[in-house]
Amino acid sequence: MRILECMFDNLAVIDPRSDESALVERIAELERIKAAAAAGQARAAAALDAARRSAEAAVGVPAARRGRGVASEVALARRDSPSRGNRHLGFAKALVHEMPHTLAALEAGVLTEWRATLIVRESACLDVEDRRALDAELCADSVGLDGMGDARVAAAAKAIAYRLDPHAVVDRAAKAETERTVTIRPAPDTMTYLTALLPVAQGVSVYAALRREADICGDGRSRNQVMADTLVERVTGRSAAAATPIAVNLVLSDDTLLGGSTAPADIVGYGPVPAAVACGLISGAVTDPRSRATLRRLYAHPGSGGLVAMESRARLFPRGLAAFIGLRDQRCRTPYCDAPIRHRDHAKPWAAGGVTSARNGLGTCERCNYVKEVTGWRVEPHFDENSKHTAEFTTPTGARYQSGAPPLPRTPVRVEISEMEVAVGIAISDCRAA
Ligand SMILES: [Zn+2]
Repeated sequence: MRILECMFDNLAVIDPRSDESALVERIAELERIKAAAAAGQARAAAALDAARRSAEAAVGVPAARRGRGVASEVALARRDSPSRGNRHLGFAKALVHEMPHTLAALEAGVLTEWRATLIVRESACLDVEDRRALDAELCADSVGLDGMGDARVAAAAKAIAYRLDPHAVVDRAAKAETERTVTIRPAPDTMTYLTALLPVAQGVSVYAALRREADICGDGRSRNQVMADTLVERVTGRSAAAATPIAVNLVLSDDTLLGGSTAPADIVGYGPVPAAVACGLISGAVTDPRSRATLRRLYAHPGSGGLVAMESRARLFPRGLAAFIGLRDQRCRTPYCDAPIRHRDHAKPWAAGGVTSARNGLGTCERCNYVKEVTGWRVEPHFDENSKHTAEFTTPTGARYQSGAPPLPRTPVRVEISEMEVAVGIAISDCRAA
């Protein structure tokens, strides 16, 4: 540990009085070290996967169930999300077992980790023999890689893959269509990125339709504004200016709601928004006859603002308790995951004596909920001295990771805004009674 610390110290020490060419050489040297470290991580991840699989084979675990959870362990060790952990592990196994030249180029710092990932991705549809051929053709002579950016590396790998096996590339395109989807993630300044992953013909036609609308519209809005407004209008069926959210859950303090505080509110599934934006959403919903705003007071610990316990004897989490856990945790509780919550389940499994309570309840994404049930994983929940909900994840190697529920506003109020054909109604109820 001491040796490692010395190494990090040396890596980060820079004399600002060095001459300029020495500073540039230092930047280049550190970049080579990052690439070599990525190659080392790939070897370690592939070795971990092989060791776990052979240990599981030795105790009779069926082949299809071996290696489950290894990608999540890699993710935690790298402080990355489980879906990235999956990509890191697939990348590591491809490099170590099938693509030695790409691995060597990464180790030498000729390729960055991302460019090596692009080559692995473009060759993923090939069989092992073709993949080895692509690896040798593109990376055996690393001089050819000099000066190639991300797009050129990906295009070169794609062209070789297509020449080696055009059917595999076409089949992959057909499979990719099944993965079409729409996702949302926060953007700076109370904006959001709404992303659609579409087959190319559909994506191009959506974009062309929005551009056409911008071409014929001359009301002073910019082209970009017209395209964004048109997208909202056509998807929600209402004008962009008047589009009240169809269903939004806001958590904010009573002070913010009544205008006495500027503490930010939280949109569930999005994150913090300024008080003025939250109050604007609520007043818009209250004055729109097609919307209904409902207030629900949540029971918070007076010291910490953390949401506190409720318990049930049922095996499944009752609705009120499940909603409570969803609001408390906001996103999947596995460290670094950040995926939306899909499951509210027992941290300590029901079958192992875990109770159905706020303390033992955990909001997770689907993948993480299955991974924590894998042999060797353990999750220990507790409230710390400030009543903040904390869970300690232990993986099969004994590595431990802490996960804390995010802080909530004092005396939080949840506001649900939903589109309904009824007059405005506001009800206040207490979550303790739910
Ligand atoms: Zn997760």
